Amino acid sequence: MSTDSFYGAAAFENAKILAGRIDIKQRLQLAIARSRLRKNPLALLFIDLDRFNTITATLGPEFGQQFLDITTDRLNHALQGDHQLMHLGSDEYAVLIEGVDNASQLRQLGNRLLNVINKPVFIEQQELITTASIGISVYPNKADNEQALLHQAITALQQAKTVGGDSVKFFTRNNANNASLRHLNLEIELRHAIARKDLTVHYQPKMDLATGHVTAIEALVRWKHDTLGWISPNEFIPIAENAGLISDVGEMVLETACRHGTKWMEEGIPGVKIAINLSAKQLIRQDMLAQIKRILKRTGFPANQLIVELTESLLIDALDKTAATLASLRDMGIEVAIDDFGTGYSTFKLLKRVPVDILKIDQMFISDLSDNPADKAIAKAIIDVAHALHMRVVAEGVESKAHLTTLQELGCDSIQGFYLSEALPRTGISKLLREGIPGITKQRTNADIEETKRKIAEQQKQRLVSA
Ligand code: C2E
Ligand code: MG
Ligand code: MG
Repeated sequence: MSTDSFYGAAAFENAKILAGRIDIKQRLQLAIARSRLRKNPLALLFIDLDRFNTITATLGPEFGQQFLDITTDRLNHALQGDHQLMHLGSDEYAVLIEGVDNASQLRQLGNRLLNVINKPVFIEQQELITTASIGISVYPNKADNEQALLHQAITALQQAKTVGGDSVKFFTRNNANNASLRHLNLEIELRHAIARKDLTVHYQPKMDLATGHVTAIEALVRWKHDTLGWISPNEFIPIAENAGLISDVGEMVLETACRHGTKWMEEGIPGVKIAINLSAKQLIRQDMLAQIKRILKRTGFPANQLIVELTESLLIDALDKTAATLASLRDMGIEVAIDDFGTGYSTFKLLKRVPVDILKIDQMFISDLSDNPADKAIAKAIIDVAHALHMRVVAEGVESKAHLTTLQELGCDSIQGFYLSEALPRTGISKLLREGIPGITKQRTNADIEETKRKIAEQQKQRLVSA
């Protein structure tokens, strides 16, 4: 059964997702009613492909659709009409299994479906392979209504993603305790937000203290939910990491930022560096470097204007695995920054082991900077050590003129914080880059811009020579 025949003429992703969600609830209600009546158990398998968004991002939505059609056919064939397969939209499927609650039988079925999905797909001579994750919940074992059955299957799916995908997990009380209802809802909503392209990118300026110019901006992901309002990245980035969605979020942020960056250069605002945040799960993915190279090539944004920010704790945890990746990034001309510096334990030791270009002093040392001598001493120590190791220093969370003055005295290179501006959407930051921040930053003259262009060209030439 193809997705099209399943949904009639439903052509749009949104309509499909909506249809899928309504459909699964109704079908679950009916199946539960039947199960009660016949005293038969009921199991729900929730299936999600692990790499589908990479396929569509790389090869386009038409390839993606063909890939899904083939996967749907294969799943239907594997189920041989015994069980109901529901395509919930995008790369999510659910299977309802009536009359079976035997764990080993369910696991066997789950593994069979994984094998079917794992087989290569050929479209126009292109070989595509993806794995999938499956979460299983059982009625009336742990769940007693359709909502619980669905949430528990998604919680189990999340566990399958957490172990790296390509696996089958059952719902257990343990994973339920870890996940609040909001968390679960946000995960479901985040999947749809990604599919609907609801996530956006805002940019916060960084000012160079020596020249007073805005020379860099940090890309920060933003999500405004229809009913829940703005959701902080501090809340949804960890959810994205655990649900196997971080690569999709990261790819969107990088692609958007590079596209905007190239546009600014074309509009005569050259030389602005763009920093993006990378999380641990992204950094250890094997295809991350290829992903960055692909996006830089596609958007035409110069590698030497890109900065990646990595948190200190991430670097400590994954030092051995990431050393080669960091070196490759720097070989490409990308600068590496340590974010939230000072919040981990092995702070200064880390600096000796990880070659980085920029240190960002965490905002917790900045908020009391002007009144608290201890914070000032720490900020000074960080700045001095960083300079001795030829790194530049950015202070985060600068909220007042007093912060700025103190950091200037301490020899800090750049500042970022609400004193300059919060993160702004593209149009707001375009204006700010063109006109500066009245009373705070200096507007760049044509001569400054020419000088920046010259420096960039020089840097690029040097890199070409040394490559
Ligand atoms: P971060 O990278 O340290 O980003 C700085 C955070 O501090 C931002 O919060 C920013 O809005 C906030 N901030 C900036 N200036 C000030 C200030 O003067 N005072 C105070 N109190 N806060 C200030 P936001 O946007 O909520 O992001 C939170 C964290 O989420 C980021 O911390 C970063 O770790 C993560 N994040 C954001 N976007 C992305 C992304 O695209 N990918 C990944 N992996 N993580 C992201
Ligand atoms: Mg950051
Ligand atoms: Mg930070």
